Amino acid sequence: MLNDAHCHFFSTEFFATLARQRRGLTLVRSPLQEEMDRELIGPALAQKICEELKWDAPGSAYTLADRWLHELDSHGVARAALIASIPGDETSVAAAVSRHPDRFVGFFMLDPSSPEPVARARRAVFDLGLRGICLFPAMHQVPLDDERVQEVVEVAASRPGVAVFVHCGVLSVGVRRKLGLPSRFDLRLGDPLAVARLAASAPQVPFIIPHFGAGLFREALMAADAAPNIHLDTSSSNGWIRYTPGLTLEAVFKTALGVVGASRLLFGTDSSFFPRGWQRPVHDAQKNALAAAGAGAGDAELVFGGNFDRLFPVVEAKAAADAPAPGT
Ligand SMILES: [Zn+2]
Repeated sequence: MLNDAHCHFFSTEFFATLARQRRGLTLVRSPLQEEMDRELIGPALAQKICEELKWDAPGSAYTLADRWLHELDSHGVARAALIASIPGDETSVAAAVSRHPDRFVGFFMLDPSSPEPVARARRAVFDLGLRGICLFPAMHQVPLDDERVQEVVEVAASRPGVAVFVHCGVLSVGVRRKLGLPSRFDLRLGDPLAVARLAASAPQVPFIIPHFGAGLFREALMAADAAPNIHLDTSSSNGWIRYTPGLTLEAVFKTALGVVGASRLLFGTDSSFFPRGWQRPVHDAQKNALAAAGAGAGDAELVFGGNFDRLFPVVEAKAAADAPAPGT
């Protein structure tokens, strides 16, 4: 069994939003303008951006969902978390989940400094059936002890099966860099120790710190040791290990198994765009590292699939199915 706890759903809306950001278009738009923009201008903006990146344009959310499905099938991946990777793109991922509810779990990026973050989180979780609220404190420059963050966590706490994902440590968004978009991140705000405090306030909510803390490995381990509801995801090529002299992925897994245990490690790849698709090399490197770290078959089973199914069991995504269909 193989489940991927960390994939990005780079939808048309995602690329269109980046295009607008690059043009500096942050105008307040009426709902009608928004709808027109979504249906008419958005796809053209996304197309242009993808041509520039030499990536495949995603098409409609359903088209992209089907592409992801085939991609998972071709690699023998049973299920995956798909992250709406720009605030405001919840409906795209909800559409993907509604199309293949037994294969996808919907996560979404939430900016707590945006208008009405709690209402937005409630809508995503209760109306759209999404199951992971993703916070990027360094990007959105909202400290984790901000009251708005606490209120968002309370939304997760009010719906069993909803996790809070908090990106900590080093953060670089490749697509933003490629497009020349500024990324004025305050890395000090992505501190796993602040996640420990938040996690302690909502012990029934699973928290996920991706990439083993992305450079703040020691702090991520301390946080997870302090709060039993903190999980670490193993995703990406984990390039952060170069910040610690001599550190290897094998040593990372060995240490994480020793401190956190196999039941709180979630395999992920951080796959995102097409045609590159699902990142098998990332999987293979982790599989080898986990074996070299001495993990048995039972532990590997938990890390590569069992924990994900336990946290995000297959449910009838009725709410997601009822969600309004997004534009293209
Ligand atoms: Zn990611």
